[in-house]
Amino acid sequence: MTYISSALLAENDFLAHGFGARQSVWYEARNIAPKLIFTVKQVHGNKVLIIDNTLAAEWAGGRAENTFSADAIITKETGIAIAIRTADCLPIIMAEPQHRVIAVAHAGWRGTYKQIAARTIDNLVDKFALQPENILAALGPCIGACCYEVGSEVVEKFKADFSGWRDYFVPKEKKWHLDLIGANKAQLIELGVRKENIDCINLCTACNQKLFFSYRKDPKTNMRMINLVMSKPSA
Ligand SMILES: [Zn+2]
Repeated sequence: MTYISSALLAENDFLAHGFGARQSVWYEARNIAPKLIFTVKQVHGNKVLIIDNTLAAEWAGGRAENTFSADAIITKETGIAIAIRTADCLPIIMAEPQHRVIAVAHAGWRGTYKQIAARTIDNLVDKFALQPENILAALGPCIGACCYEVGSEVVEKFKADFSGWRDYFVPKEKKWHLDLIGANKAQLIELGVRKENIDCINLCTACNQKLFFSYRKDPKTNMRMINLVMSKPSA
């Protein structure tokens, strides 16, 4: 297996997308022939980078790897593969088919706490005048609630700021486990994304080590999965 796709996103012909697995490598991206590959320096924050035509022109024909610090990327430009790297964190790919705007976001517990998914929606709404109900979101493979034990300081942070925290923290053997998919899904729904427009892959990266890199299972790994989306240039 090289890339895992979302059935919801795959219905849209203008999109090329994929959630990475162990075997996914950059040449896979080249098979979709992007004119530019854009990744960011991921810092577990809530900053969203928008690639407009000026920025796209500046980097034309290149690979803007890790130049900008951000945890989400949005673009309306065609032919640009926007990508984030993960090994347990949740990759989110979004698209608004009518206006052909695409986004990708990276959410571990810190990014989830800082509401990177919600900030991405805010930017899509404010900067691109999109309606949340028209936005599609695919939540990719990440560490599941089955394996994602977190410390009490993490639970306390969420408890203090989110009244719905109990919906996505699962008690297990006197410890708390965080359901990253549940927490991010709740954020998207709160901002007006429709439940039926959210597709969850539900594959745990820590349970499926043959398929994925898992930082929890192998903290020494510096390998990451590449999760990308591109709006195809119109033929
Ligand atoms: Zn698991």
